[in-house]
Amino acid sequence: MSTPKEPSFRESVDLMFNRAVALMDLPPGLEEKIRVCNATYTVRFGVRLRGQIQTFTGYRSVHSEHKEPVKGGIRYAMGVNQDEVEALAALMTYKCALVEAPFGGSKGGLRIDPRQYEDHELERITRRFAYELAKRDLIHPSQNVPAPDMGTGEREMAWIADQYARMNTTDINAVACVTGKPLNAGGISGRVEATGRGVQYALREFFRDARDMEKAGLTGSLDGKRVIVQGLGNVGYHAAKFLSQEDGSKITGIVEWDGALVNEAGLDVDAVRAWIGKHGGVTGFPDGTYVKEGAVVLEEDCDILIPAALEAVINLGNAERIKAPLIIEAANGPVTAGADAILREKGTVIIPDMYANAGGVTVSYFEWVKNLSHIRFGRMQRRQEEARHQLVVDELQRISDAMGNTYSITESFKQKYLRGADELELVRSGLDDTMRIAYQSMRDVWHERGDVDDLRTAAYLVAIDKVAASYRAKGL
Ligand code: NAD
Repeated sequence: MSTPKEPSFRESVDLMFNRAVALMDLPPGLEEKIRVCNATYTVRFGVRLRGQIQTFTGYRSVHSEHKEPVKGGIRYAMGVNQDEVEALAALMTYKCALVEAPFGGSKGGLRIDPRQYEDHELERITRRFAYELAKRDLIHPSQNVPAPDMGTGEREMAWIADQYARMNTTDINAVACVTGKPLNAGGISGRVEATGRGVQYALREFFRDARDMEKAGLTGSLDGKRVIVQGLGNVGYHAAKFLSQEDGSKITGIVEWDGALVNEAGLDVDAVRAWIGKHGGVTGFPDGTYVKEGAVVLEEDCDILIPAALEAVINLGNAERIKAPLIIEAANGPVTAGADAILREKGTVIIPDMYANAGGVTVSYFEWVKNLSHIRFGRMQRRQEEARHQLVVDELQRISDAMGNTYSITESFKQKYLRGADELELVRSGLDDTMRIAYQSMRDVWHERGDVDDLRTAAYLVAIDKVAASYRAKGL
């Protein structure tokens, strides 16, 4: 049976945007200005590898410059194309607005299968790509700041930062030209885990409100909830790890590129990750049932479904069969516009990508600020905070002594209270705060406006309103 035609990823984003603006009262023309992608640069470059020249195609798309720099990851995948990069850049605009990260939206991609190359080859390719973008200010601390995305990570970001610094030897802020760098190359604690951590914080906020749970027909807390995750990469791994190890959820299914694992008793996320690291995929993992046609596991019974790999995996072809009452879009664009309509009709609650995976850009924002201020978070305050807490503890002890020791401070309280916050704790606190506030802004619209019946529309309304306010304030 052939599946009806799906809109492209960019068309899907446009359709969702249009649904939201139909409920708004934007001045004529402004709506169009916000929707369109400002510019997309396509670059083709050659790199001499294995005795011959290989040509690569890359993109950097700038969706909106209502705030600068613009921000968005660089993806390495064979499916990269202009339509995808533009859709992802648009999502970045709305995502940054929603979580109040002061950036416009951008995204980049290189059409490459990184698994086919040695490390030293990838370094040459990445440096060459970075050179092409940097010379056009498409990598620049005050103009355009990339970050990791699918197929890229800390290592690629470090190469990009170094390439920019070599080309701009007098730029004191050079290291702020890209985020997601390793700690020893100007990165920030907690960036690698940030997107997955943000997914956890988002779900915690969802489970704080009985009205939200009721919409999905769920009760209780994250404890004991059955979770299926697709993609055990950076985002999926961290989300699944934190939910299972810190919140008591059970990971009953993991879908990867070579198949899926299911285990009603819960899969050991670290063990599966280690297995993938060693064997390249989930095939052969001993403590679960292997399903070759991995995508069908998305349709299994569970409480929470976390697509954290590719776009369009929930589409017109399978939406009707999705049983999860709650989907959190850790990946960008995993649910097509057509599937979104079907799921809304069924009453499935979807926590949308623009919000759900905003943890990455939030901590990238902190990293950028750290780079520009040239100082680690907490460096000035930590010991001072500890000294002040020591004063309180000493005073309590003195009172306790004076009262004949009827009360004494426990050692565990002392240890927790006396320790000043380090960078990681500050980053987590800032991320938690950001995810809660952004969720609450969507929730208010969702519950209070009679004409909004889903979180995605609520997210678009909040985000577009902020972008529009910014254009109104400064003019076009
Ligand atoms: P990643 O490359 O680290 O991981 C992707 C995972 O998906 C890998 O484990 C890969 O094997 C798996 N995968 C590939 N094809 C698959 C298939 N057909 N079925 C199932 N699994 C498959 O990428 P990531 O950084 O975790 O990004 C995943 C998604 O999250 C993307 O949509 C990305 O845009 C989005 N995202 C990432 C970040 C970030 O900080 N890395 C931030 C925001 C959004």
